[in-house]
Amino acid sequence: MCGIVGYIGPRDAYAVLINGLKRLEYRGYDSAGIALVNSKTRIYKCRGKVSDLEKYITGNDVSGNIGMGHTRWATHGEPNDINAHPHKSFHGKFVLIHNGIIENYARLKETLSETGIKFQSETDSEVLVNLIEHIYEQGNTSAEIAVRLALSKVIGAYGLVIACIDEPDKLIAARKGSPLVIGVGNNEYFLASDATPIIEYTKSVIYLNDDDVAIISKEGLVLKTLKNDPQTPRIHQLDLGIGEIDKGGYKHFMLKEIFEQPRSILDTFRGRVGADFNELHLGGLYNVIDRLVKARRIIIIGCGTSWHAGLVGEYLFEDLARISVEVEYASEFRYRHPIIEPDDVVIAISQSGETADTLAAVKLAKECGALVLGICNVVGSSIPRETDAGVYTHAGPEIGVASTKAFTAQVTVLAMMAILIGRKNNTLTDVQYRSYIKSLTEVPGKIEQILAQDDKYKNIASLYKLANNFLYLGRGYLFPVALEGALKLKEISYIHAEGYPAAEMKHGPIALIDHKMPVVVLATKDSSYEKIISNIQEVKARNGIVIAVVNEGETTIKNMADHVLEIPVTDNIFSPLLAVIPLQLVSYHIAVMRGCNVDQPRNLAKSVTVE
Ligand code: GLU
Repeated sequence: MCGIVGYIGPRDAYAVLINGLKRLEYRGYDSAGIALVNSKTRIYKCRGKVSDLEKYITGNDVSGNIGMGHTRWATHGEPNDINAHPHKSFHGKFVLIHNGIIENYARLKETLSETGIKFQSETDSEVLVNLIEHIYEQGNTSAEIAVRLALSKVIGAYGLVIACIDEPDKLIAARKGSPLVIGVGNNEYFLASDATPIIEYTKSVIYLNDDDVAIISKEGLVLKTLKNDPQTPRIHQLDLGIGEIDKGGYKHFMLKEIFEQPRSILDTFRGRVGADFNELHLGGLYNVIDRLVKARRIIIIGCGTSWHAGLVGEYLFEDLARISVEVEYASEFRYRHPIIEPDDVVIAISQSGETADTLAAVKLAKECGALVLGICNVVGSSIPRETDAGVYTHAGPEIGVASTKAFTAQVTVLAMMAILIGRKNNTLTDVQYRSYIKSLTEVPGKIEQILAQDDKYKNIASLYKLANNFLYLGRGYLFPVALEGALKLKEISYIHAEGYPAAEMKHGPIALIDHKMPVVVLATKDSSYEKIISNIQEVKARNGIVIAVVNEGETTIKNMADHVLEIPVTDNIFSPLLAVIPLQLVSYHIAVMRGCNVDQPRNLAKSVTVE
């Protein structure tokens, strides 16, 4: 959450910053601001989107080669002009942008207020900038020392860029819990919450670690810890193309990402599926595979869509590898005194690799001695760096706030892991192993067929776009897809929707069904096919509207449902990868038809770096 960008070098900083903010806007979009730093530092900030900021700035002096920019996702204080970042300290010596939460801000604010400091905003971030200035003035010290001393008093999470007007030729960056990447160019440096604003300028990046402080000037970069221990910066090369972060001709990032899924799943396979489908290689697990195969229990942790992918993982690991699985919300798991044994394997799923609760749960599991693995999309992000091993999903950047291709890539990785472990511990025969690999590789082609029916999804959307509620029902592998379908609809169209295991419907939600209630039933042919037919009958008997996702050519449900959406036949275990696609597209079209901002849904933001 929240996008941070900074620049120092020979270029026009404003152009780099505004461009960077546009790239980062998916991380937060309630307000935005820019500071151009030199002897007469200028701050421009306002409520609204980056485009509003641009309009607001028009005609003003934006000259300069050093600066910082921020798109906010408010935690402390409503989104308004004053609470927008950058924040200036009371005597105007420091300017700061912040991603994260200063948890002890109230106590710090009280202490600072007693010294006569007045606060303009309601944010926790302004408290920090004033604390830095207070220490700077009291201690008669350098900006860097003041920053390090101030941060040692802070409890919470931060990604920060700070400038001091007495030392206007440098930027200070620091991180704890919130991501920060430094792009290294020719006599220039870029700072950002993730690499998307950087790749058009340089592929060389340094990922800051927790407790790192970077002091950056045109002449160079000094990296140290909060405690002043020097660090050697490690430069990584980004493997990311600029085309991957554009809309590529689509109206929205979400639509582009839905349509990208055949390719993104192929990218997830790439280099991992052997010729003739005779083998799976997951290089990231190479060193830990023995421990994984012997796991007493697998605990999958995630949030939101990643948690839904984890639920599919539960079915996969239990079915194919016969290992018992628990799936946990990271935020609940970490605060529950969970019992984690050294022979447990914890798998953390997060698209961004930065999800704050998941990251904290990873640290907890590591302390308990479990083997901790990550399934993440963003290379070099915090969770892959914190875990013992893992598998990248390689789905390419996901910019749409409502996750789509990340889900199918995560499920693909979980399926590959389950197939691999199943073979290694002999719960799958060689024939089954190869047959599963083969069917998995057929999934992208089948998704193409589903995408080709977009007009049907548009039609359903136009019929039910005004509904106030939706119910999604599924059993077995398709129960998590019911949850995911409901989540997609809620988050982008603001229609209340609930996902339920179909059989649970009669324990409560059935009371909601009337002639106005669309009920999406995931009813592909599997072992519970007959049961789900009964569930459809139960909905029809109460005049509900049934929209059924069925296998091609199926006739029984066609005769009882109001609408059917056909998907190709696949192995039952891969059905989530296909069944989710129509639900993504129906949600997308409903949201567009309701006039909602699909890529920037109300109150949400990508990459949840606050707890
Ligand atoms: N806690 C800060 C605020 O509310 C930063 C939020 C963010 O990460 O965007 O202003």
